[in-house]
Amino acid sequence: MIKTKVLVIGSGPGGYTAAFRAADLGNEVTLIESHKTLGGVCLNVGCIPSKTLLHTAEVINEAKHANELGVTFKSPKIDIDGVRKNKEAIVSKLTGGIQALAKARKVKVITGYAKFLSKNQVALDGTDEVIEFEQCIIATGSRVTKFPMFPFEDKRVMDSTDALMLDDIPKRMLVVGGGIIGLEMATIYDALGSEITMVELGNQIIPVADKDIVTPLFKKIKKTYANVFLNTKVTKMTAAKKGIKVEFEGKDAPESDTFDKVLVAVGRTPNGLLIDAEKAGVNIDKSGFIATNNQMKTNVDNIFAIGDIVGQPMLAHKATHEAKVAAEVISGKKTGFNALTIPSVAYTDPEVAWTGKTEKELIEAGVKFDKGVFPWAASGRSLSIGRSEGVSKALFDAESGKILGMGICGNHAGDLISEATLAIEMGCDMSDIALTIHAHPTLSETTAFAAEMAEGTITDLMPPRKKK
Ligand code: FAD
Repeated sequence: MIKTKVLVIGSGPGGYTAAFRAADLGNEVTLIESHKTLGGVCLNVGCIPSKTLLHTAEVINEAKHANELGVTFKSPKIDIDGVRKNKEAIVSKLTGGIQALAKARKVKVITGYAKFLSKNQVALDGTDEVIEFEQCIIATGSRVTKFPMFPFEDKRVMDSTDALMLDDIPKRMLVVGGGIIGLEMATIYDALGSEITMVELGNQIIPVADKDIVTPLFKKIKKTYANVFLNTKVTKMTAAKKGIKVEFEGKDAPESDTFDKVLVAVGRTPNGLLIDAEKAGVNIDKSGFIATNNQMKTNVDNIFAIGDIVGQPMLAHKATHEAKVAAEVISGKKTGFNALTIPSVAYTDPEVAWTGKTEKELIEAGVKFDKGVFPWAASGRSLSIGRSEGVSKALFDAESGKILGMGICGNHAGDLISEATLAIEMGCDMSDIALTIHAHPTLSETTAFAAEMAEGTITDLMPPRKKK
């Protein structure tokens, strides 16, 4: 029997952050991970491999469009093994780094699958090993949602993990789901040479974001991909010799079509129902989520939960912040998860990012707001890098002028959104943003220009007419 003060289950961005922070605060910590390497979905089969491949895609696309700058490159020769090796090297570097940091902090790492026996014990599945703990942090994350109607047993039907393995470059590929993961994977395979068809059930891609913020991306993929079907449902998928036959239901889609490969990117399921948490008395809802208070405590006083398993948005940066809260509360600190906003980013081409409230959320809630929209076609920097399709939109409270939300579509939108996130946390108003001197010429100016559009102080464009 192993005894530990703090047990962390799962080593994703939530789990390893919690383990390391708890160790730094003087606790004796044990970390259990079932996968052969640390880092969870994010490092192994999520954020990092996808962003590495998206960088490869960016290089290919930049080279393709260089002729607009008067420089012509030959068509690229894709060495798929080389692309895969580069991705694997980055993943190994990071997962190895986490292992080294665990060792440096004297965090005991155990490989195995933990299941609860009681509120103070877990067992390693398939062994006699029992671990007794005083405090536990559940960070077991989420997995790909597998609908039984899709024939995943056929290797040509992929989930995001399969797609990141980059076994080959299919000639014709269908991406089911126009959310962030589907769009990022489509960006990668399109650049590598696949002919992409995308199908989305909703009436826009990235249905949670404002439509005007995704429009520049939508226009681009409509031009580049073979087809993008909105308001369309996949009703049947059959594995045939020639390919995967897919049947559709939607106004613009054909009745059926056959693809060399299909990527299904339609959501993720929390792992709460797989760990016998009920034996510890932890409440889990029927989808597998575990509810917590803002100190990340479950209904059982010595058991905490963080990351994808506690709810949306399923994002790594939410998991790491929740992790620090849990570790600090365990260590006696008076802290809580009080973030005003969690930014979301699609690392597509162009990128889409948003933070705070969306315009549709404000309308639905009946909040009166002012809006500043700055088209990147009027930004010297975006024109000089050949990326004028972007748009920045800032939303302010009509009475106080405080920033409520921001959406950006354009190159590096994911980096640019941090300024608005900080502005929301600091309670900035439109003048704070407009009067902050942004270096010229930068893409970050577009945030200040969006605030100037709302204020009516813009000079790089005509100020919008104020409503009487
Ligand atoms: P996870 O990362 O899911 O880790 C949970 C770990 O627990 C896993 O390693 C699992 O093996 C282990 N585990 C599960 N059960 C047990 C058990 N019983 N015993 C022991 N170990 C167990 N988020 C972003 O913020 N930015 C991105 O760019 C981004 N890109 C993504 C791209 C893709 C393709 C995918 C799939 C996801 C992406 N995400 C991204 C989401 C991000 O990966 C998750 O939000 C994040 O990994 C959640 O962290 P976590 O710590 O909650 O759990």
